[in-house]
Amino acid sequence: MAEKLMVSISGMRGIVGENLTASVATDYGCAFGTFLKNKYPAKEQQLTVCLGRDSRPSGQMLGSAVMAGLCSVGIDVIDLGLVTTPGVSVMLRQLACTGGVVITASHNPIQYNGIKLLLGNGIAPPPLEAEQIRRCFFDKDFAFADSASRGKVTSSEQTDAVHISKVLAIVDREAIAARKFKVVLDSVNGAGGPITKKLLVELGCEVVPVNDEPSGSFAHEPEPTAENLAGLGQIVQAEGTDVGFAQDPDADRLAIVDENGMYVGEEYTLALAAKHIFAKRTGNAATNLSTSRMIDDIAEKAGGRVIRTAVGEANVAAAMLENDCIIGGEGNGGVIDLRVGPVRDSLVGIALILQLMAETGKTVTQLVGELGGYYMNKAKFAADHTQARRVLDLAKDKFAGARLDTTDGCRFDFEDGWIHARASNTEPVMRVIIEAKDRPAAQEYIDAVSKIRDEVLS
Ligand code: MG
Repeated sequence: MAEKLMVSISGMRGIVGENLTASVATDYGCAFGTFLKNKYPAKEQQLTVCLGRDSRPSGQMLGSAVMAGLCSVGIDVIDLGLVTTPGVSVMLRQLACTGGVVITASHNPIQYNGIKLLLGNGIAPPPLEAEQIRRCFFDKDFAFADSASRGKVTSSEQTDAVHISKVLAIVDREAIAARKFKVVLDSVNGAGGPITKKLLVELGCEVVPVNDEPSGSFAHEPEPTAENLAGLGQIVQAEGTDVGFAQDPDADRLAIVDENGMYVGEEYTLALAAKHIFAKRTGNAATNLSTSRMIDDIAEKAGGRVIRTAVGEANVAAAMLENDCIIGGEGNGGVIDLRVGPVRDSLVGIALILQLMAETGKTVTQLVGELGGYYMNKAKFAADHTQARRVLDLAKDKFAGARLDTTDGCRFDFEDGWIHARASNTEPVMRVIIEAKDRPAAQEYIDAVSKIRDEVLS
């Protein structure tokens, strides 16, 4: 069965040449531009959107199509070219744009591409505004401009320089450089290679680049998970480096391989970054309900707390902006530091973790060992809306003694662990994340949830 074009809160994603074509992308540009014109009707200055794309071969074609759409409704475009997703967020605020567009399908396989939208504050539109854009796209209710007031395209090549200077400003460059770290960087031939190599050189590191050509020919499955990064572990071992870093194609997610070549797990990326931040600054953190408790332990020790949000980067970023959080992100390797931008940023993660290593003098293995070592299990199963609701109702009965958060599905917190069960926003699937102090404790929760699932689905 042909997959449907997905038009959701974070933008649009589809298969290039099947459901995602130049004409679809132009319409989406028209819809976003029309939305911005309606949102800022009295704005005197010309509305401007900056646009960047990751290294997928279809990026230029789709980017040009979105730009045409934006211009046709009277929006000016600044073309940033091939850049990372966090790079677009940084430039959006640097250039005081009204919005931003990123052509990327993030960690999805090569046949996919997507169009991600950002508002002037650097984050994705909230649900109500996302729905307005979606509606406008499907209704094709576009506010076309005439010849005199159509938008125009200019370009900027400043993204790398601006982005790197913002990242360097949040760390002690000399302290890191003094350690002369040797680092393997696997950019999966995505957008991250060139800029991240430059950053590492600025930080005095000896870089062993892998898959650093932004060709879009992904050298392995692009999601930075353990099974996709076995090769990186081998290179770390062979080269005897201090650490291995892996980015996804648009460089917002970061995974770490320790000095022995072992995959550390994406949950540790945010935890290690938070460990450094909470050692330096006073304040609070924000993350989603599916992220490990490690960050709560770190914050608590430092006298801070963690604000939990619904799953979705924009929810975390909005909570961070609202509460002026000193660190935040997601357990999928996404670190957000508002001093650089309200978007997950692998360059931020790399800089903060290198500084943690530099200041403590500890290896990645030692730093990971200090973080408590929970056991986490992530599972998903097919469930329609009614079945998902029933699973949650039964779980509420079963875990009546737990602290319950219903912001996004149900999160049950126990003394020794937690369960987060939620229906996916994009597919008829239920996701269940379970974390506990050790494997046997987690197994009890896994068995209890499996029993409820079987009862509902059988
Ligand atoms: Mg990504």
